[in-house]
Order: sequence, then C-alpha cells, then structure tokens
Amino acid sequence: MNITKHNLHFHKTSFLPGQTYIICQSLRHQSSLVSRHPTTSPVEDPKHQPSQLHRISTVNLIRNIVLGRVFTSPFLFKYGVACLSKIANSHSALLDPDRNALLRALIKPIIYDHFCAGTNKQEIKRTLEYLKTMGFKGVILIYSREIPAMPVEELHELEPLTKDEDIDIWRDGNVKTLDMVEPGDYVGIKFTGAGPRVAQALAQGRDPPQQLLDAMSATCERAAAQGSRLWIDAEQQVFQPTIDRWTVDMMRRYNTKGEALVSLTLQAYLKSARSTLEKLLQQARDENWTLGIKLVRGAYIGSETRTLIHDTKSQTDECYNSIAASLVTKSFSRFSKQDFPNVELFLAGHNSDSIRKAYALYQGLLQRGDTPPPIKFGQLLGMADDISCELLAMGDKAAGQTEKTAAAPMVYKCMNWGSVRECMHYLVRRAMENQSAALRMQSTVSVMQKELRRRIGL
Ligand SMILES: Cc1cc2nc3c(=O)[nH]c(=O)nc-3n(C[C@H](O)[C@H](O)[C@H](O)COP(=O)(O)OP(=O)(O)OC[C@H]3O[C@@H](n4cnc5c(N)ncnc54)[C@H](O)[C@@H]3O)c2cc1C
Repeated sequence: MNITKHNLHFHKTSFLPGQTYIICQSLRHQSSLVSRHPTTSPVEDPKHQPSQLHRISTVNLIRNIVLGRVFTSPFLFKYGVACLSKIANSHSALLDPDRNALLRALIKPIIYDHFCAGTNKQEIKRTLEYLKTMGFKGVILIYSREIPAMPVEELHELEPLTKDEDIDIWRDGNVKTLDMVEPGDYVGIKFTGAGPRVAQALAQGRDPPQQLLDAMSATCERAAAQGSRLWIDAEQQVFQPTIDRWTVDMMRRYNTKGEALVSLTLQAYLKSARSTLEKLLQQARDENWTLGIKLVRGAYIGSETRTLIHDTKSQTDECYNSIAASLVTKSFSRFSKQDFPNVELFLAGHNSDSIRKAYALYQGLLQRGDTPPPIKFGQLLGMADDISCELLAMGDKAAGQTEKTAAAPMVYKCMNWGSVRECMHYLVRRAMENQSAALRMQSTVSVMQKELRRRIGL
C-alpha cells in the first residue's frame, strides 16, 4: 500500500480484510511508519472501527495522553508547572531554552510542539498544512512575544516616548504572522503586546498613539489585500473598555464590504456582556458595518475584580449560550429580524455543550430555510482535539446531505508561534487551563486511549 500524506488520515478505506495497519506519523517531521498485524476480521469488530479521532496523528494522540496524565495528576502537575514557571521567569542562560540545547530538547518535542505552531516559517508551514489536511477550515496564528506585565500604578507613571520601539517590534511580529497565513486564516492581535506605553493608553482610556494607529492601518490593509482576517483579543477589565473602543474604530473603517475583516472579543463571564453586545449591534446597524464577534467565556477570572463576573459558572454558561443563540436566531428585542445588522460569529471555546447547542440551532434554522449568520468554531492547538474532531465529523456528515442542510461547521485551530523562550508564558497558561478543566481532560484522555488501543488492535 502506498502511504502518502494525503491518505494517512483515512484509515478506513486503507484497511485490507484480516489486517490492521498501525500508522504512525511524526507531526513535525512528516515521517511515516506503517506496521502490519494480521488479526481476525477487524473491520467487523466495532472496537476497531475508526473513531472521530482517526484524523489525529499517532504521535499527537500519544502526546495528548501523556500530557493529559500529567495535567490530571495533582503531583505531576504541581512539579511540572513549577518547573515551567521557573524557566518562563528566569533570566539565566542555563534556563533559557533558546540557548540551552538540552533544555530545548526536553521542552520542544513534549510540550512546545503540542501547543505551538513552530519557531520558524518552515515549521509553521508544516503545522498549518497538517491541520488543513485534517479538515480544518483555517487557523488563527498569533505571535507569542509578551511584554512583562506591570502593575497599573507603575503604568501610570511612564513618561511618553517620541518613538516607541515596542510598537515597531509588535508591528513587525504581526506582519511576519500575516506572511505565514493564507486567505481565510486569521491573525490574532493582543494590544498590550505593543508594550507598556500602549497598555498605559488603554488603562487611561486614551486614543491610540499615532504610531500604533499607523501600525494597525498597515496591518489591516495588508490583511485585506491578502484575504486574511484579524481578531483582537479581549484582556483584563482595566484595558477592555478601551480595547473595545479602538476595535470598534477599526470595524467602522474596515468592515464595510459586507464582511468582518476585524473581529472584537466578547467575554461572556462579564455581567455586562449582553448590554455591551446590544450597544455594538446598535452602532453596527446605525453606521452600517459588519460586526465581527468572537465569543469567549473569559480567561482572567483569577485576576479580575470578582464582582464584574457572573457569580457562578452556570451563569457564565447561560450567558455564553444565550448570546450565541440570540445572535444565531437574530433575536434581540431592540431589533427586528429585517433590520438586524450584519454579524459574523466566531465561537471560541472548548465547552462541548455550548458548541453542540449552537450548531444544532444553526442547522435547525438552515433546515427551515432561514439564513442565520455564519458561525465559525475555534479551539486552541493541543486542546480539546476530541471536540475539534467531533465538529469535523459533523462536517463530513453534512457533506453527504442536501444543499439546504449542507453547512459543515467551519472549524479553526488557534495557536501561538515564536521561539521556545518567547512561548514559555503561553505554555504555562495552557498547563494551568488544562488543569482547571481536569474533568474534561480525563474524558479526553479516555477517548484518546480508546483510539490508540484501536490503532494497535487491542
Ligand atoms: C480560540 C480561543 C480564543 C480565546 N481568546 C480569548 C480572549 O481573547 N480573551 C479571553 O479572555 N479568553 C480567551 N479565550 C479563553 C476563554 O475565555 C476561556 O478561558 C477558555 O476557552 C475556557 O472556557 P470554555 O468556554 O472553553 O469552557 P469551560 O471550560 O466550560 O469554561 C471555563 C470558563 O468558565 C468561566 N468560569 C469558571 N468558573 C466560573 C465561576 N465560578 N463563575 C463564573 N464564571 C466561571 C471562566 O470564564 C472559565 O475560563 C480563548 C479561548 C479559545 C479556545
């Protein structure tokens, strides 16, 4: 049998009666290994039927299981995260994975390659190709450079600069990122990544510095010219109202051709989420531009003023689901369906209940002949692969249906790129997030183990 990169993910059609093929592909190096184990009639045994995870390379499957075990073991997690944090915050050359080859050899294949796109153009290209071969519609790529966080009081004391080098580095990072994505892909942008003086302007509710405005205009124009898109990340509440205002200015300018070149992030854990959305809808309708919304639950619960956030997780869930439903069905009391503004919705998250509900609603509307706004779904690279695969499988199913119901979910993977050192803080955050979702992680590990057993014919 001739194994090519293309047919690696379609094990089902590659089986010969009486034999199981174990296909092992190194994600980064694209090396393939095929071994044969004659068994009795695996095709008829449901245990051996390819599952929704059949698209995931074996290397990735094993890494998911190993990391899942670490994240769900309190002992391993505690020491693992302590080591990662030490490395992320150290200034010593010995603990710098970009300079210490041994440290790099440990971190890169086990954890970096699992969560990050790559350190250079070639590695990133391989990761993006792999994801698109799996069936993902596209990617969201983010440059990982982070500016060390500063207490807000210190931010207020910073003197202005005539030329801010941090903004130049940030702009160059965004341009390089745009260089690596394709039409339809997104570049994720974090305003505080542009340095402490930009963070100061955000915290003080000022207009963006001219240098930042120029950098953003250049980025938007370039993204528009190559058919890519931008989303602006949501951050802590001390910055968020200004991030929203700056993002609205960009949407007003660039989202005028019936599509959202720029999307804003709405955090459903905020008690104010629905009223913020209603104001945005009103502005989009009055000024006639497309509102791009990336809906998340919110990542800063540990460091935010708690009273701004819903009191319970189930209230956050309810807020997320009801906002998604209201946008998909165009149901807001202030607007009739006819004068509802043009909206593009991106549901970012790993909560399978929210994802299934939104997609079912969307499909139901299509079947009734309605025209709901398009929804895209996004998960982080290395996380919730089982949920991403479930969505991709729904796409396969939709492809076999009629025109009217044939809207396959548009599924994206979101990931950071940068040197191992530049991505260390991102990796620590991913570890923390995985641990706080330990229950979900356990079920992911168990489905991954089942798939691995299937591949080795057990
Ligand atoms: C592609 C992508 C992009 C993202 N971009 C951003 C971004 O720009 N800004 C940002 O802030 N986050 C972002 N996130 C992270 C996101 O906000 C969530 O932290 C993360 O996805 C986990 O939530 P969940 O929806 O996947 O599901 P779940 O795991 O079901 O929900 C966990 C979330 O519920 C909320 N929650 C937990 N406990 C409570 C409680 N006691 N009371 C109230 N609420 C609670 C918190 O928001 C927590 O993160 C992004 C996530 C993804 C997948």
